Amino acid sequence: MQLQQTVRKNYSFEGKGLHTGKVARMTICPAPVDTGIRFRRIDLGEDAYVDALAENVSNTARSTTISSGQASVSTIEHVMSALTGMGVDNALIDIDNVEVPILDGSAKPYIDAIWADGFQQQDAPRRYVEVKEVIEVINEEKGSVVRIEPADEFSYEIKVDFNSRVLGVQTARWDDSVVYAEEIGVCRTFVFFHELEFLFNNGLVRGGDVDNAIVIVEHPVTKEQVDKMSKLFDVPALTVMENGYLSNLQLRFPNECSRHKLLDLIGDLRLVGGFLKAKVTAEKAGHGINTKAAAKVRLSK
Ligand SMILES: [Zn+2]
Repeated sequence: MQLQQTVRKNYSFEGKGLHTGKVARMTICPAPVDTGIRFRRIDLGEDAYVDALAENVSNTARSTTISSGQASVSTIEHVMSALTGMGVDNALIDIDNVEVPILDGSAKPYIDAIWADGFQQQDAPRRYVEVKEVIEVINEEKGSVVRIEPADEFSYEIKVDFNSRVLGVQTARWDDSVVYAEEIGVCRTFVFFHELEFLFNNGLVRGGDVDNAIVIVEHPVTKEQVDKMSKLFDVPALTVMENGYLSNLQLRFPNECSRHKLLDLIGDLRLVGGFLKAKVTAEKAGHGINTKAAAKVRLSK
């Protein structure tokens, strides 16, 4: 029988939020049996808790935000994914600002800090979340779908298609035979070059820099445009590589982008309040549809 587990000690992380640019210090702490994952805005007081549950989702524009009363925490999906992928049932996450640090754009910094220490076993069986019938959320306009079916073993499968010449159609899968920490958790977020300037101008991705996002150059760009981006990021001259990615970083997997979408899906679906034991298939999924699916699972219980 799989027992519940928590982290062995406190682990702290500090850095800018991707969307707000605000610097936060965040500490993942051990928590008692049946806590689940709980955030606390320590800058707002000792009791400013937000439970990481689908009914607390308050915004899904480009990242997942949860709120309870005055307390809000945004871009929770990567740390949620890391804790789920490593098998952590219970954790309290103290944070002193509104957004989780983006760090390297993946869950790798959490894995690097926590994984080798192992986990503290607790005196209660793990709580699995199962579904009795098929749960499906469809967004016809976007062509996206998340489907959750009853199954004895968990599996997550995702397909992405951005109608992109660089990305193409990519798939990724997580099940018992895939080591999350090595194959999924290390995959970074990505952005299209043509979106970057728009995002900058609209006050989004203020915490973004060239170390924490894969940049996909979909449409032909001029040297001037690329040089301007290098200036915005304040780095030596970037170039567009043959494979259509910007030269700011090297891919960790050829399909790193779909693996990152899977990372996000795992994090968002943790909002069901435990370990999902079901067959999950998703297509073109994003935070909106992921968290809606999680909310539907909670309502079905
Ligand atoms: Zn993400």
